[in-house]
Amino acid sequence: MEDHCSLTIAIDGPAGSGKSTVARALADSLGIFYLDTGSLYRTWTWLVLHLGISPTSEDQVLDALQAHSIDLQISRDRELIIGIDGRRMGPELRSPEVTTCVPQLAVHSRVREIITDWQRQLAVGRKMVVDGRDIGTVVFPEADVKIFLTADVHERAERRLQEMNRHGHMSSFSEVKKALVERDLVDSTRSISPLRVADGAIVIDTTNRDVKTVVDTILIEIKMLRKRTARDCLDF
Ligand code: C5P
Repeated sequence: MEDHCSLTIAIDGPAGSGKSTVARALADSLGIFYLDTGSLYRTWTWLVLHLGISPTSEDQVLDALQAHSIDLQISRDRELIIGIDGRRMGPELRSPEVTTCVPQLAVHSRVREIITDWQRQLAVGRKMVVDGRDIGTVVFPEADVKIFLTADVHERAERRLQEMNRHGHMSSFSEVKKALVERDLVDSTRSISPLRVADGAIVIDTTNRDVKTVVDTILIEIKMLRKRTARDCLDF
C-alpha cells in the first residue's frame, strides 16, 4: 500500500468506555487494521511478571526487553500477532494480574517511547483504527479523525465485569469497579502522556448507546472528512 493512502483513526478513553469493541467494529466495517495499543503494554507487563521483575523498576523493565524479544506481526486477516521469544500471546494478556500491573509499567517514559515507536512503525503506509490512552495526544497527534469515548463509571464497571467473566475470571462488581477507578486514576494523573481529551477530538458518551450507534457516528465523521479533503483513500 502506498504512503499517501495511510489513514489513522485514533480512539482514546478510559477502561470500559467501549474503545476496543467500537474500534474493532469500525475497523471491520471499513476493512482496515485495528491496533489495540493496550495489548502492547500488556505484553511487556506479562513478560516482566513472568520473569518475577517488579513493573515499578524502569531499569529492570528495560533490561527484560534487552534479554527477550517481543515480535509484532500483522496477519493477512488484519490481526496483530504478538510473540515473546516465539511464544504467541493470547488471553493471558487479559489476566487480572496483568491488568492490575500494566499502569505501573505504563508510567515509565522510556517504556512509553519504545512502545510509541512500535505503534508508529506499524502505522507506516497503513489505514488503521488505533485505540489507547494517548493516541490522539501523543502517538498520532496528526490523526485524521480523533475520538474520545467516555461512559458512566457504573456502566464501565459492568462491561468490564462481563468481559472478565467471558474470559473465565470471576470477580465481584464492587471489586471490579474499585480496580477500574484506581486504574483510571493512575492513567489520568501520570506525568507522562496522561489520559486526556486530545485537541480536536470528538467526545462520545457511550452510556446506554449500542456499538452500532457509536460506530455510525464515527462513520459520519469520516464521510465529512472525505467531503472536506476529497482524499481518494477515504472512499470506503
Ligand atoms: O486498553 P487496555 O485496558 O488494554 O490498557 C491497559 C493499560 O495499558 C491501561 O490501563 C494503561 O495503563 C496502559 N495503556 C497506556 N497507553 C495506551 C494503551 C494502554 O498507558 N495507549
